[in-house]
Amino acid sequence: MSEPLNQSIRARLDSLNERIQRACNNSGRDRQDVTLIGVSKTKPAEDVAEAHRLGLTNFGENYLQEAVRKIDELQELNAQWHYIGAIQSNKTKDVAKHFDWVHTVDRVKIGQRLGSQCPEGKILQVLVQVNIDADPKKSGCPASQTPALVEELMRLPCLEVRGLMAILSQSSDPRASYESVAQLHRDIRSGLKPERQQKWDSLSMGMTGDMEHAIAAGATHIRIGTALFGDRS
Ligand SMILES: *Cc1c(COP(=O)(O)O)cnc(C)c1O
Repeated sequence: MSEPLNQSIRARLDSLNERIQRACNNSGRDRQDVTLIGVSKTKPAEDVAEAHRLGLTNFGENYLQEAVRKIDELQELNAQWHYIGAIQSNKTKDVAKHFDWVHTVDRVKIGQRLGSQCPEGKILQVLVQVNIDADPKKSGCPASQTPALVEELMRLPCLEVRGLMAILSQSSDPRASYESVAQLHRDIRSGLKPERQQKWDSLSMGMTGDMEHAIAAGATHIRIGTALFGDRS
C-alpha cells in the first residue's frame, strides 16, 4: 500500500524545510531570504494545490503547454508562477501572459519579445540564465557576455531585471560554480546605477541534489522538484 498522496507531500515538505533551515544555519543566512520554488513539472495540478495548502506559494514549470493548463486550472490559488524552461521565441507571448517570473532569458531577442508582448500594466520579473560552466550542451548566456546582456535588457519596457539563474553541468563542482554565479552577480551589481542596484537582488540556483551549496553561495530562489513532489519517473 502506498501512503496517501497529500501525506507524502506533507512529509517531504517537512523534511525539505528542515534541510533548508539547516543549510541556512550552516551558512549564517536568514531562512526568509531563501524562497522555495516548488518545481511541479509533470505533476498534476492537485499536487500543486496540496503544496499550496501546506503554505507554498511559488511554483516553477518547464513545459509551456502543461504549465498553461495547470495555471488556468489553479487560477484561484494566488500563487507566483516561475517559468524555468528553455524559451523559444515563438513561445514568448504565452510566457509573458501566464507567468510572473521568467528565469531563462539568455539573449536580447527573447527579452524584446517578452517586453513587447507583456499584457498591459504587467511587469515581468526577469532573471538572466548564465551558462556558468560553459557547457556546450546547456543554454544560457556565456558569463563574459552576461553584463552586457543585463544592461541591454534593463533598457526594455515592462521587464524588471532582478538577477541571475544557473543550471550546472553534470560534471561541475557545485560549490565552485555557484560561487562563480554569485561573484558575477556582485560584479554586475557594482556596475549598475545606484537606483538599479536595489532591485538587482535575486539568484536562482540550487535543485534537489545541490541546494546546500547554492544556499551557502547566496541563492535567493531554490528550485526544488524531486524533494517535494517525488520522483518524476
Ligand atoms: C526540473 C528542474 C528543477 C528541479 O529539479 P529537482 O532535481 O527535481 O529538484 C530545477 N530547475 C530546473 C531548471 C529544472 O528543469
